[in-house]
Amino acid sequence: MEHGGITCLIGLGGNTGPVEDTFVAAIQRLNCENCQITALSRNFRTAPMGPDAGGRFTNAAASLNTDLSPLKMLDLLQQVEDDFGRVHNIHWGSRPLDLDLLFYGRQVIHTPRLTVPHPGLWYRRFVLDPLVEIAADWKHPENGHSIAQLRTRLDQRPLVIDVEGLDTLPVIPPRYTNGLAKLRTIPAGPDANTADQPSFCEVRVYNDGEQPQQSGKYETHDFRIDVSRANVTALIEALLTAAIGS
Ligand code: ADP
Ligand code: MG
Repeated sequence: MEHGGITCLIGLGGNTGPVEDTFVAAIQRLNCENCQITALSRNFRTAPMGPDAGGRFTNAAASLNTDLSPLKMLDLLQQVEDDFGRVHNIHWGSRPLDLDLLFYGRQVIHTPRLTVPHPGLWYRRFVLDPLVEIAADWKHPENGHSIAQLRTRLDQRPLVIDVEGLDTLPVIPPRYTNGLAKLRTIPAGPDANTADQPSFCEVRVYNDGEQPQQSGKYETHDFRIDVSRANVTALIEALLTAAIGS
């Protein structure tokens, strides 16, 4: 590739098969004539997001220089995903390899096939943790925050967490089962990979049959806890130690 390619940041994820070997092989595949890998984060073990996501994920991030157009870059990422056996049927489902184009230089792209910067990156810890390692000062072209600032922000702002599967919990005071409750949670949620500090967040508890609001492809919650699968003890403890209205 000629000098002067565009710098892209990509996210890697997977939760089936030998994911760490898959990442190594995928990075080798991406390091091709039109594309040079310039940095790679460590691997992060993360909890799955959404009810169909399966077991724990591994996530990483890489930077690369490319002379491919944004759509050609997406083609390449999808080709490599397919080569490692990704079946595109369930959104947020189990997968051997997920490759997301997080940033394509400073470009902002909104097309049916491609949204750049990736719309979920700014609130997803499993994207930001690896990104901080390789591109802490990189500025998000739409909101102006650096990756490091976006990551820090996740610890500070209230996060919205959907709680499902309430029938598996013992008696819950009605104030928890309606609307919003501000709770101190211990890090039991789907982003608990490296957390060891309690954090404040909002927990939105839905009544039976009520659905989280949808905003395009992405739901408005940041994280979803399915209580029937989550660490119920931790969640109960979080509920009981909550300091709302007191
Ligand atoms: P997620 O990566 O949020 O888990 P999927 O990988 O299941 O979601 O979604 C893949 C779809 O998202 C593809 O059809 C692709 O065209 C679209 N898409 C839109 N923007 C991007 C992007 N920046 N990177 C990767 N895929 C994208
Ligand atoms: Mg994807």
